[in-house]
Amino acid sequence: MLVSAKEMLNKARDGKYAVGQFNINNLEWTKAILLTAQECNSPVILGVSEGAGKYMCGYKTVVGMVNGMIESLGITVPVALHLDHGSYDGAKACIEAGFSSVMFDGSHYPIEENVAKTTELVNICNELGLSIEAEVGSIGGEEDGVVGAGECADPDECKMISDLGVTMLAAGIGNIHGKYPENWAGLSFETLAAVKDKVGDMPLVLHGGTGIPEDMIKKAISLGVAKINVNTECQLAFAAATREYVEAGKDLQGKGFDPRKLLAPGFEAIKATVKEKMELFGSIDKA
Ligand SMILES: [Zn+2]
Repeated sequence: MLVSAKEMLNKARDGKYAVGQFNINNLEWTKAILLTAQECNSPVILGVSEGAGKYMCGYKTVVGMVNGMIESLGITVPVALHLDHGSYDGAKACIEAGFSSVMFDGSHYPIEENVAKTTELVNICNELGLSIEAEVGSIGGEEDGVVGAGECADPDECKMISDLGVTMLAAGIGNIHGKYPENWAGLSFETLAAVKDKVGDMPLVLHGGTGIPEDMIKKAISLGVAKINVNTECQLAFAAATREYVEAGKDLQGKGFDPRKLLAPGFEAIKATVKEKMELFGSIDKA
């Protein structure tokens, strides 16, 4: 059964570790992440962007697939199904479809409008026992056509949004979606500490977890980050393993063209990436 992310994130905050959010794109992705979480006895958050939701034939299809897998694979660790960077309408659609958690990304709205829309969604989620993530200060890079500049959040605005009763807060601290450029300035721990000072116990979320050096990840967790989003890294690992299989000509040998064989190396690569992240984030055996 899907659960809200609230309890797992509060436990992570108190235990000084982080729960990974791994974005899913299809059946292989979902199966790889769920099995790894179970093997590692770790809580897990499955992230679905609006684009990925559309790709997977809509939110209801996603909910059906994930619930079916949890049952048929015997998954007993806590699993939250979370909309990533949701619009207002997207968040409502996911709530309707059976997601257990949503992110409303109102960071591109003026703060007043972000507050008004977040408030409405917080009320709906509270009533249904779902968790909700809000964002202040846009995350850099490109995600589903939304381009942010990687700004640092205003700690007072973080406090304002945090006080609305959200479950978790994504605050921009110079992090970026996708691969980090050579000249990236690194995370702003000064901003993170200032945000933490204002929002107190609120679990903080770090987006763009691909390519942030390990020591920075650990420091961010020590400063209140309880959820870290990983997306691009699984995609890179899947693509590299699939490329290796095809370049070695294995799809031309015997029944190597069978999708269950062709996609197996990519599937294993996602599993290895997820396990590595769970070790780094400290969520193993925290289910
Ligand atoms: Zn993000």
